[in-house]
Amino acid sequence: MPTEQTFVIVGASLAGAKAAEALRARGFDGRLVLIGEEPERPYERPPLSKAHLSGAAKDVHVHDETFYAEHSIELRTSTTVTALNPAEHTVTLAGTEKIRYDKALLTTGATPREMTAPGGDLDGVHYLRTLADADRLLAAATHASAVAVIGAGWIGTEVAASLRQRGLPVALIDPGTVPLERVLGGDVGAVFRDLHAAHGVALHLGEGVRSLHGDGRVEEVRTTGGTAIPADLVVVGIGAVPRTGLAAAAGIAVDDGIVVDEYLCSSHPDIYAAGDVARAWHPGYREHIRVEHWSNAINQGRAAAVNMLGEATAYTDTPYFFSDQYDLGMEYAGYSPHFDQVVFRGDPRSGEFIAFWLTGGGVAAGMNVNTWDVNEHLQQLARRHARVDPARLADPGVPLEALAGAAANP
Ligand SMILES: Cc1cc2nc3c(=O)[nH]c(=O)nc-3n(C[C@H](O)[C@H](O)[C@H](O)COP(=O)(O)OP(=O)(O)OC[C@H]3O[C@@H](n4cnc5c(N)ncnc54)[C@H](O)[C@@H]3O)c2cc1C
Repeated sequence: MPTEQTFVIVGASLAGAKAAEALRARGFDGRLVLIGEEPERPYERPPLSKAHLSGAAKDVHVHDETFYAEHSIELRTSTTVTALNPAEHTVTLAGTEKIRYDKALLTTGATPREMTAPGGDLDGVHYLRTLADADRLLAAATHASAVAVIGAGWIGTEVAASLRQRGLPVALIDPGTVPLERVLGGDVGAVFRDLHAAHGVALHLGEGVRSLHGDGRVEEVRTTGGTAIPADLVVVGIGAVPRTGLAAAAGIAVDDGIVVDEYLCSSHPDIYAAGDVARAWHPGYREHIRVEHWSNAINQGRAAAVNMLGEATAYTDTPYFFSDQYDLGMEYAGYSPHFDQVVFRGDPRSGEFIAFWLTGGGVAAGMNVNTWDVNEHLQQLARRHARVDPARLADPGVPLEALAGAAANP
């Protein structure tokens, strides 16, 4: 007999779309509403800073256009959920229409952190989160003569690479001593510094941005070190902020993300959260972590769906992400906000290597660069926090399978 239940997903995102797909695949036959404020049906963001921007655009949508109707998923695009009422079990759409739900999933994602430097609101200053942002940036890039990218995190370094590949002069500005320093540390960040330098990016490291200047349109970026960088296109990539406003206003626990347990359930038993917006209890790390990765959005979306259907399956995945910049492709597995040691297998200057981050003598994370079909082993090592002699980690003669296998059967 069909269920009378209604499930509502707020955020027609990757996590939201994967949750809707999983709910139908698992046999949920009640009303299913997927609501998103963007005009697009759900799409993937990773290509926006890579193929899309370097001109090699491809379809980025998560599902075919017909998928939602075929699966009786009510997809409401260009629709903002303006309120959530846990006591009433309702969401309010665009300030007017109300939908009553039995269970709700919040996949509201994150939004770019805004730059506060004077001049940050000049024309020609761009952020990159949505397909619309990417299209605007691409259009601007076709007329630009000099680019400044502010922030050498993942978005900043990928944008720098893509625009450089379009032949534009690019300056990359970051207060860190190397790109990606916060995530990868100095030794591995240096690989990205050298990569960008080799491709002609002007690196301004160890410097923040003091101000932007121009007559209505940006013309110049001034750094805290006093350097004036000419730029008629500026891209800001200084991190993202989880979109917790709806949850916080509804009295749901929020702490740099919607706080959820290992079943992705929030402080209200009928409200779940997944993807970039969720700060989830990870039983392996024994702490709440918030992960802004593509695979996390996919897998948490699916996991939340299963738990909304009444199962109690803990989300224990090892964080995983990837990046492509010029001819460097990499995958990273693990979680290592702090580390004691970095061990390289292979010479990082060769462009093909594996790096391991160790904490307390165990592998916390691993990254394969232009070396493929090994990430599963890195995940196994990181998942088990495997204690492996660093000399064996570094030795290409010791098969990773053997190390990962030993970690799996200590
Ligand atoms: C340019 C770019 C490149 C990336 N590259 C990589 C990569 O190479 N590798 C990797 O692992 N990860 C990458 N990521 C990260 C990855 O894309 C994100 O982790 C993923 O998109 C998160 O998905 P999500 O479903 O949690 O949320 P989001 O993708 O942020 O989607 C949330 C959606 O919810 C909507 N929404 C929010 N509030 C409301 C509301 N009140 N009502 C209705 N709708 C609402 C938003 O409009 C948005 O559409 C990249 C991200 C960006 C921006």
